Amino acid sequence: MATKYVYFFGNGKAEGKTEMKNLLGGKGANLAEMTNIGLPVPPGFSITTEVCTYYYANKRKYPKSLEKEVLTALAKVERVMGAKFGDPKNPLLVSIRSGARASMPGMMDTILNLGLNDQTVVGVINKTNNERFAYDSYRRFVQMYGDVVLGLKPVSKDDIDPFEVIIDEKKRERNVKLDTELNAADLKDLVGRFKRAIKEKTGHEFPEDPRTQMWGAIGAVFGSWMNERAIAYRKLYDIPESWGTAVNVQTMVFGNMGDDSGTGVAFTRDAATGRNVFYGEYLMNAQGEDVVAGIRTPLPISKLAQDDPAIYKQLEKIRSTLEKHYRDMMDIEFTIQKGKLFMLQCRVGKRTAFASIKIAVDMVGEKLIGDAEALKRIEPDQLNQLLRPIFDLSEKANAVKSGRLLAKGLNAGPGAATGRVVFNAADAEAWAKRGEKVILTRIETSPEDIKGMDAAEGILTARGGMTSHAALVARQMGKVCVAGCGELDISYSSHTMSVKGQTLKEGDWISLDGTTGEVIAGKINTKPSEVLQVLIDKTLDPKSAPVYQEFARIMQWADKFRSLKIRTNADQPDQASNAVAFGAEGIGLCRTEHMFFGEGKIGPMREMILADTLDQRKKALSKLLPLQRKDFAGIFEAMNGRPVTIRTIDPPLHEFLPHEEKEQRQLASQMGISFEKVKQRVESLHEFNPMLGFRGCRLGIVYPEITEMQARAIFEAAAETKKKGINVEPEVMIPLVGNVKELEHQEKLVREVATQVMKEQGVTFKYLVGTMIEVPRGAVTADEIAKVAEFFSFGTNDLTQTALGVSRDDAATFLKPYVEKEIYAKDPFEVLDRGGVGSLMKIAVEKGRATNPGLKVGICGEHGGEPSSVEFCHMIGLNYVSCSPFRVPIARLAAARAALAYPRKDSKPKAAPGKKRRKK
Ligand code: ADP
Ligand code: MG
Ligand code: MG
Repeated sequence: MATKYVYFFGNGKAEGKTEMKNLLGGKGANLAEMTNIGLPVPPGFSITTEVCTYYYANKRKYPKSLEKEVLTALAKVERVMGAKFGDPKNPLLVSIRSGARASMPGMMDTILNLGLNDQTVVGVINKTNNERFAYDSYRRFVQMYGDVVLGLKPVSKDDIDPFEVIIDEKKRERNVKLDTELNAADLKDLVGRFKRAIKEKTGHEFPEDPRTQMWGAIGAVFGSWMNERAIAYRKLYDIPESWGTAVNVQTMVFGNMGDDSGTGVAFTRDAATGRNVFYGEYLMNAQGEDVVAGIRTPLPISKLAQDDPAIYKQLEKIRSTLEKHYRDMMDIEFTIQKGKLFMLQCRVGKRTAFASIKIAVDMVGEKLIGDAEALKRIEPDQLNQLLRPIFDLSEKANAVKSGRLLAKGLNAGPGAATGRVVFNAADAEAWAKRGEKVILTRIETSPEDIKGMDAAEGILTARGGMTSHAALVARQMGKVCVAGCGELDISYSSHTMSVKGQTLKEGDWISLDGTTGEVIAGKINTKPSEVLQVLIDKTLDPKSAPVYQEFARIMQWADKFRSLKIRTNADQPDQASNAVAFGAEGIGLCRTEHMFFGEGKIGPMREMILADTLDQRKKALSKLLPLQRKDFAGIFEAMNGRPVTIRTIDPPLHEFLPHEEKEQRQLASQMGISFEKVKQRVESLHEFNPMLGFRGCRLGIVYPEITEMQARAIFEAAAETKKKGINVEPEVMIPLVGNVKELEHQEKLVREVATQVMKEQGVTFKYLVGTMIEVPRGAVTADEIAKVAEFFSFGTNDLTQTALGVSRDDAATFLKPYVEKEIYAKDPFEVLDRGGVGSLMKIAVEKGRATNPGLKVGICGEHGGEPSSVEFCHMIGLNYVSCSPFRVPIARLAAARAALAYPRKDSKPKAAPGKKRRKK
C-alpha cells in the first residue's frame, strides 16, 4: 500500500492519536487525541512529517499522491462543516498550522482565515451579518499571508512590521487609537492597501484563488522548518533537523465575532510556581495570536468565571479531563465563537524547574503518577535552577525604600537577575559575548529574539501576559523574566526606557525579581537559594523551606532507584562537606597539586623541583610533608569514614615554576642559588607538548621520593584520623598509567610506605591502590593493569584528549565548527563521546573485570556530572560517578533516571568493599 500522508480528525473521530507524534507532530497528534476523547475540536487534517522530509530530500517537491489525499480530506471536512472551500456563498475557511514533533512555540508559521478573497468575503458577510468581522478577518489573512508566504516582513532589528505601519497610518487618518475603533470600511480599505504594498514590495500579486492560497501556505510552513529562528531554536534544544514538521489544516473558528466571542490560552496548573490552580489568560473579541503576541494585555482566566460562567465551567471540566487523561500539566489554546467553546491545541506544558518539581511531587501525592514517573519528568539540569541565587531580601527592601523600585510586572520567570539594560536581541548577544551581564528589555519579544534571550541574565517586557512569548520562552530557558510591565515607556530608536519620571539608558544597571515581578534600578546583591541555605549555610530550617522539601523528596526517590554511587571531586575540607550535604558518598578525586599552591607550599614545592641532588629534593619534600598531611587529615575528617580517592601528583612540573624574572630572582635568593641557575632550570623544564609530557605517574617514577612523600602524608593522616576514632579508607590513585609496569612500580612504593606507617603509628587501616584510566593504552591493556589495580577511575578529560587526539586547550578554534557541522553531536569534553571514548571505557571495564572480578570502577572526569554521560556510565556497569559538589544532586537524579531507563542486574551495588590484598 502507498504511504499514507494525510490524517483526518473531526466529528468525534480521528485517524491519529497522541502516540503518533513523530508522524503527525505534537499539535496534530494531540488534536486527534482531543477529538477522540470527545472534546470540541474544529475538524481538519494533518499532513505528516514524512512529507516534510520528502520535500527537503526532493528539491522542495511533494510526493505524487499528496494532492489527491489532501483534496479527499478537505472534502471530508467540507461535508462535516456543510461548507465549501472557495464557495462564494458558503465558504469554508481554514488555518494552516505548523506542528513539529517537539513543540517550538512561535518558531514556525501559522496562517489564519485562509480561503478569503474578494468573493468569499461577501459570503462571510452574508452568513454572519457582520461586515466588520469579515473584513477584520480578511485583513488579518492578507497580512499573515504577505508576511509568511510572500516574505514581506520587518527588515532590521529596530524596524516595525510594514503592515503595522500601514495600520498606524490609517489610524492617524481616522484619528483613532485602537484597532477596534476601525470600522468595516476602514478594514476593507486596509485589505486593498495591504495587497498593493505586497505587489509593490515583493513583486508578487496576492493570490485570490483559495487552492493556490492553500498550497502556498503549506509550502511556507514546510519552508519555515528551515528559517533562521527555527534553526536557532533547534540548536538550542537539540532538536534534529531530520525530524521535520507536520502541517495541520483546520476549520477556522472565530474569537473575533463580537463580545460573545474570544480566545485564550491556559495551563492546567501554574507554570511558574507549579501551584495547582487553573492558570490562563483570555481576550474577548480577539483572534489567535492576540493573546500571546502581547499587543493587548489579556485578562486572567479567573475573570472569565464572572464574564461567562457557563464557558468557564466547561473549561474547568476540560482541565480536569485533560489532566486525568494525560496525567500531566497541560497547556491549552481555546476559542469561544458566539458562546461556543472550541479546543485548538493542547500539549504538555513547559514549566520552570520550580514548577516541574512541585508538579511532579504533587502529582505523586494526588496518585496521578508514581515516584519513578516523577523522576522521569524532571530533567537533571533543572535542579540547577533550584540552586541559583536569590536576592538578598534586606538589600532589596532598602532599594525599594530608597525609591529604586521602578515598576512591578508579572512574575513570569522566577529567580533574581542583575544586569545592564539593552534594547534588542542582537545587542544582548553582542554584549554578553564581551562578558557583560545584560537584561534584555523589549516592548514585547518575538521568536526572532530567541538568541538574545538566551544570552541575557533576565528578560523584561512592557507588554504581554503570563503566557506571552517572553514568559513562555523564559520559563523554558530557566531565565528570570518580568513581563507585561505596562508602566515602562520603551523607545527602541533612542535606546531608553522611561518610568515614573526617570529615564534609563542603554547600559544602565537594573535588577529583576522574577519571583515577585519587581523591577529595581541599580544592582542588588544576590544570596544563596533556599536549598543552599538549608544544606550548606544551615541558616534556614527545612520546615520553613517548601522548595527545599520538594528537592529533598526528589533526592530521596532518586536514591531509591539509582545503582550508581555518587562521589565528588574535592580538594578541600569545605568542598568535601558541601558535597556530603548534597549527598556525596565519597570523594572520587582529590587532586593533590592544588594543595601545593596553598600558602607556604609553593616555595618548598619549587625548591623540590629545582633541586639538583636527591638530598636537596628530600629536604624540600620534608617541608611539604606536614603541610600535605594536614590537608589530608582535614579531608578525612570531613568525609567521616566515607571513601576518599587521592591522586598522586599529576600536572607537568613546570606549571609550578616561576616564569617571571622577578619571581625567579626571589626564588634564587630564597634557595641561595644563582638566578641564572633558576632560569636555566625553568627553561630546561619547558615542554613542547606538556599534556603528553613529563607528568602523571612519570613524575613519580623518575622521582620516587615524591610518591613516597605523598603516600606518607596520606597514611600518616589516615593514622591520625583513625586514632581520633574516625574511620578512614584512603584510596591511592596513580594517574596516567598506560602500562602495567608503571603501576607496579608505584604500587610497590605506596604499599611499602603504608606498611611502615602502620608499624610506626601502631594502627591499621584499610586502603586501596588503583589507577586512572586516561590513555588509550591503559584502556586496551586493562586486563593486565587490573591484576595490580584494586580500582579504576576514568579520567575522561585526558581520555578524551588522547582518544580523539584533540588538545582541549587548543580545541576552541575547530571544535565549535565541528559541532555546528555535526561531526560531533556535542562538544566531547562536555558530553562523553560514547562511540570513541565510551568504547574504550567499555573495553577497559570488560577486560579489567575479566582478570579482577571485584574491580571497582568509577569516573572522575568532568563528565561525571553530566546527565547523558552519567547514563552511559550506568549502562556500562560503573560503580560510581564523581563530580563537582554542586553537581552531586544532578548526578543523583541522572543516575536514577538511567537506572529506570536501563535496569541493571546489580541494582544495589555494595559499598566500596575493603578488598583483600591480592596475592601476586
Ligand atoms: P503556534 O504553534 O505558533 O502556537 P498555532 O498553529 O497554534 O501556532 O496558531 C497560532 C494561533 O492561531 C493560536 O492562537 C491558535 O489558537 C490560532 N488558531 C490556529 N488555528 C485556528 C483555527 N482553526 N481557528 C481559530 N484559531 C486558530
Ligand atoms: Mg499554538
Ligand atoms: Mg588526567
